[in-house]
Amino acid sequence: EKVLVSGCNGYIALHVLDILLSEGYHVIGTVRSEGKGDKVKDSFAKLYPYAKLDIEVVTDIGQPGAFDAVFKKYPDLQHVLHMAANFSFGSDQSNEEMYLKPSIEGTKSILNTVVQSGPNVKTFVQTSSFASIMNVQDPTSLHTEATWNPITWEEAKDNELAAYCASKKLAEKLAWDFLKENASQVKFRYTAVCPPYVLGPQMFDWGLDGEKLNTSAELVNNAVKSTPSSTGPFDDPSGITTDVRDVALLHMLPLRDEKLGGQRLFPVNGASLKKPDYQNARFNPQRILDVVNANFPELKGKIAAGDIKDNQKLLEKTFHYNTDLTCKLTGVEFKTLETSIIDSVKQILEHRQKK
Ligand code: NDP
Repeated sequence: EKVLVSGCNGYIALHVLDILLSEGYHVIGTVRSEGKGDKVKDSFAKLYPYAKLDIEVVTDIGQPGAFDAVFKKYPDLQHVLHMAANFSFGSDQSNEEMYLKPSIEGTKSILNTVVQSGPNVKTFVQTSSFASIMNVQDPTSLHTEATWNPITWEEAKDNELAAYCASKKLAEKLAWDFLKENASQVKFRYTAVCPPYVLGPQMFDWGLDGEKLNTSAELVNNAVKSTPSSTGPFDDPSGITTDVRDVALLHMLPLRDEKLGGQRLFPVNGASLKKPDYQNARFNPQRILDVVNANFPELKGKIAAGDIKDNQKLLEKTFHYNTDLTCKLTGVEFKTLETSIIDSVKQILEHRQKK
């Protein structure tokens, strides 16, 4: 079965490719430039010599028809995982160009192409975000798969982080509206995956080579890079987390399981039907430091300890959530925050040793 994955060189997407390729799917991954594609192809070729992976370059997903050529080349695509979006900050481009346009126009463009030129597509999974669920005005209200971020573009457009969040929410909303408006032509099942901050190891350790990692992975990297004299703030940012390997799994399950169509999936660290823990995912830099210090005695005294005494009180102010529905629908026992952090730090330390 052929699967299209947009933005296939990304932090989360590489884990998705890992699952798909190991399961024998034929993956067609899109990247923005050839060099990035070569690296992905070479790395997976070493891991799975018989993997079926083709790379296509789509330079600007925001252009109408951006994916037409890919569908022309692979008319028998059966699944589409639309993952590409920018989750980094500090660009000199406007928030419209950086976040809104690629998210909105990219979603519109790929959905239109699937309807017009993807007659065999059965599944469409979009990487949305907890950004489309969260209510920053009222974080202690209960966030579930049914919650929508009330933010408008007008409110968000002047602040980078808010603009990213609004772009994710608007792109997901656009998809649900598209499905309604084009119901007679839509032959595929749509699933949105809405992860909060994604932690956990890089698929390949070259993912650790850059100056800075992906925004969410950098949160743990920052703790390892800290020094005893690092000053905070150790309470910012705060929010909730999930593990990259669980997020990747939730992108693959809808390909196998029809009942995941029409759903929003909300993965969080520590969620499980057997032993639900709806506090495990709450974090701030202090909590990350606490986990690293407690589990890596070799780092104790070499990295920051933080300065927050009663962190529990602060963590209680961040998002409250319940994801029983996602647990029930998927059967996944979500990894704990401790596991995500420990596995990330192990990889960082091993990589340091190799250098
Ligand atoms: P990465 O930055 O590692 O990957 C992003 C991918 O999207 C890269 O392939 C990147 O290409 C591509 N991309 C970015 N901007 C554009 C654009 N304008 N046009 C085409 N491609 C683009 O991030 P993640 O793996 O973390 O993110 C993947 C998805 O997950 C995104 O949709 C993000 O919004 C979502 N997400 C991430 C969370 C997290 O905590 N990491 C949380 C919730 C959602 P290139 O390498 O060329 O820049």
